[in-house]
Amino acid sequence: MCTGGGSEMERGIRIDNGICDGCGTCIAVCPTDALSLSATTLSVDYEICTSCEKCAQVCPLGAIEREADIRHLRSARVSDTTSQPTFAGRYDVVVVGSGPAGAAAAYRAAMDGTTVLLLERDREIGTPVRCAGAASIGAIRPFIPVPESCIILTAVEEEIITSDGGATLLPNGGLAILDRRRFDSHVALLAAEAGANILVGADVFGMERRDAGWRLSFTHNGGNCLVEACLVVAADGVESRVARWAGIETAMSLDDVESSIQYEIVRSESSQINRCQYYVGSIFAPGGYVWVFPKGPGRIHVGAGLLAPRANGIRVREYLDRFVNDRFPGAQIVAEIAGGVPVSKPLKDFVGDRLLVVGDAARMSNPISGAGISAAVVTGSIAGKVAAEACSMGKFDRKTLNRYRSEYIRSAGSRSHALYPAGKIISHGFRSLVRTLQ
Ligand SMILES: Cc1cc2nc3c(=O)[nH]c(=O)nc-3n(C[C@H](O)[C@H](O)[C@H](O)COP(=O)(O)OP(=O)(O)OC[C@H]3O[C@@H](n4cnc5c(N)ncnc54)[C@H](O)[C@@H]3O)c2cc1C
Repeated sequence: MCTGGGSEMERGIRIDNGICDGCGTCIAVCPTDALSLSATTLSVDYEICTSCEKCAQVCPLGAIEREADIRHLRSARVSDTTSQPTFAGRYDVVVVGSGPAGAAAAYRAAMDGTTVLLLERDREIGTPVRCAGAASIGAIRPFIPVPESCIILTAVEEEIITSDGGATLLPNGGLAILDRRRFDSHVALLAAEAGANILVGADVFGMERRDAGWRLSFTHNGGNCLVEACLVVAADGVESRVARWAGIETAMSLDDVESSIQYEIVRSESSQINRCQYYVGSIFAPGGYVWVFPKGPGRIHVGAGLLAPRANGIRVREYLDRFVNDRFPGAQIVAEIAGGVPVSKPLKDFVGDRLLVVGDAARMSNPISGAGISAAVVTGSIAGKVAAEACSMGKFDRKTLNRYRSEYIRSAGSRSHALYPAGKIISHGFRSLVRTLQ
C-alpha cells in the first residue's frame, strides 16, 4: 500500500456507490484484482489495492475519487457471508455471464449434448443494456438465428464526420441496429430450449481448481452456492475476473479501454437520423469518438467513448453533454448508461486450464470501433462447440482446447490483431483515416 506524505496518512481511493452504475470499467484496468462488483455494490479490498488510481481515471461517471486518507474506510470492508454454501450440482460446462458471448456458448454447448449451467449476475438477462446495438447480422446469423423482432433497423449507412465538418460515407457493410435487450434474452432462450440451465441473480465471486475441473462459488437469493464444472467458459464481459482467477493476466492498460457514456434521446427531429454517425477528433472525444445511432422513430443513441489518459482529466460526460447541448438542444434523455469498451488486442491467453475466455472478457471487440456484439457471438459459439467436444471426449489438454483458438483465428482473429495498430494510429488522428478513405 502506497502511503501519503504525512506521518500516518494513507492515500487511496473511495467509491461512491450512489454514483457507480456497475459498468466494471474500473475492474478491467485494476492490476491487482482489488475491486469487485456485486449486484448493487462496487467494493475495494484495501489489503491488495496499490492506490495506483487507474480505476479513478477510467471511471466514466466519477464514482471513484482519490482520497487523501483511507484509514477510516478500511474498517468498512464488506465481508463474505459465512453461511454454509448450497451445492448446486456438477455440470460439464459452467458459463459465467449471459451477454451474447456467454449465451451463445451455452446454446452451442447444450445443442452439442453437454450439461450446461449459465450463471448471470443481473436479475434480467439483457438489462441493463450497455450498447447501441449496431452489428453485422451477416456475421451473427451463421451461429445464431436472429428473428426480425430483435432487429430495429437494417442496411444502415455509416458516416464519419470530422471536427471541420467533413463527412465521409463508408462503404455499406450491411449494418443493422439490434434491440440488445431482446437479442440477449432471445439467445438465452435458445440456450434454455437446447437444454442449458440458467440462473439469474447469480453472482460468481470465486473459483478454485479441483481434480476434475473447477469449483465456482456464487451468491444466489441471498445465500452462498457452489457448483462444479469440467470446464468453465468466462463470458463475464469487460470486467472479467474469472480468467484472472484461473491465472490469466487480463488487466488492461489505460490506453486500451475506452470510458463511455451513452444517452438515449427522444426528440421529434431525431426521427430524421437514419444513418450511424461517428464524430471523430479530440474536440469530440480524445482517442475515441462520439456516436449518433438511430434507434427507431423519434429515438437515437448518442454516446461518447474516450481514452482517459488523453482527456486531460476531463470526464467523458462533459464531452458528451457539450455535444448533445450543441447538436440536440432541448433533447430529452430517457436513459443513460456507462461502460468500458476494450480497444485492445485479444488476450494473449484466451485458452486456459479447462477454461475458455470469450467476448469482451477476452478483449475480442473491434479495436478501431469497439464494436463487440458479433465477436462475442462468434467466439462464444466456437468456444461452446469446442467445450462440448472436449467434454464428450473427456479430453481437456491444451491441444484439444486450442481448437477454439485456431477456429477463432480462422474466422476473425487475424483481422482483429491486424486492426489493433490501425486503431492506435487512428485514435491519435482519425482525420488521417478519413483522408485515406476519400
Ligand atoms: C456504451 C456502449 C455502447 C456499445 N455499442 C456497441 C454497438 O453499437 N455495437 C457493438 O457491436 N458493440 C457495442 N458495444 C460493445 C458491446 O456491448 C460488447 O462488446 C458486448 O456486449 C460484449 O458481449 P459479452 O457477452 O462479451 O459481454 P457482456 O455483454 O458485457 O456480458 C457479460 C455478462 O456477464 C455478467 N457478469 C459479469 N461478471 C459476472 C459474475 N461475476 N457473475 C455472473 N455474471 C457476471 C454481466 O452481468 C453481463 O451480463 C458497446 C459498449 C458500450 C459500453
